[in-house]
Amino acid sequence: MKKRLVVPVTHPRYESLRLRELLVEQYESGVVAVAGLIAHGRGEAFDYLLGETLIPPALLAIKAAAASIVLAKHPVISVNGNLAALAAREVAELSSNASMDVEVNLFYRSSERELATKRVLEKAGVRKVLGVGRDASERIAELGSERRRVDPRGIFSADLVLVPLEDGDRTEALRRIGKKVVAIDLNPLSRTSVFASISIVGNVVKVMPKLIEEVKNIKQMSREKAGDIINSFDNKKNLEECIRFIAHRLEQLRIGEASLPKHIGEAD
Ligand code: ATP
Ligand code: MG
Repeated sequence: MKKRLVVPVTHPRYESLRLRELLVEQYESGVVAVAGLIAHGRGEAFDYLLGETLIPPALLAIKAAAASIVLAKHPVISVNGNLAALAAREVAELSSNASMDVEVNLFYRSSERELATKRVLEKAGVRKVLGVGRDASERIAELGSERRRVDPRGIFSADLVLVPLEDGDRTEALRRIGKKVVAIDLNPLSRTSVFASISIVGNVVKVMPKLIEEVKNIKQMSREKAGDIINSFDNKKNLEECIRFIAHRLEQLRIGEASLPKHIGEAD
């Protein structure tokens, strides 16, 4: 493997560049697809608009998602290349804390990429990785891409699927076959965010640790209390709040009532 550029921690865009480096590294090991690099760029643009933080409506959605995961009978995490590159350890931790199965589901499926993704997950501590090779023997009808192939022990029989960085068509198909879908997507306007049952608008690297923390909290609560959290959550309203947050933030920046992040105006 080529020697990578090392980003100095003092760089004003250190965190953002670190994530890019992780993706490029995993692109070179065959985990991330080239289109995954483009998808990340689309996400980064929305992260700027959100101020690169977990915004209040995202925190609310994370709580509702955690309650839904804890109360689900068979919750499954769907993992693609980008998620494996950015948050494999968090996938392992969430899976063990919330008793979730972990399934590899790739848009650009090849046995090499499946195996490479499985290896990254196992190295991070995931004990059982579903959906690899012949294990993905079931099909989700009406879905064109290779993502239709699912594991009968995983997504096929799940009642809830967590889909970080998902594609809209598949979210819609999963909803149509009766699954509860929890999406993590920086873009509140994507078809994924619009079709999901619960849309968490935020960066997976920030959302996953918070989701793990909330799952631990919810597990201490009664089922009734967890149910109340779910029932009082309105996804459409929450997405509107995300859009309102962005609009308000841009307006504050325009009139100078919010300060621009320090790095804006500096060369990257
Ligand atoms: P859709 O089909 O749902 O309308 P899309 O075509 O934009 O959406 P894809 O390109 O299939 O979706 O997937 C990329 C999505 O993942 C983008 O919406 C992007 O905002 C989001 N994304 C990229 N990187 C991250 C990240 N680190 N955390 C959260 N979301 C991300
Ligand atoms: Mg798409």
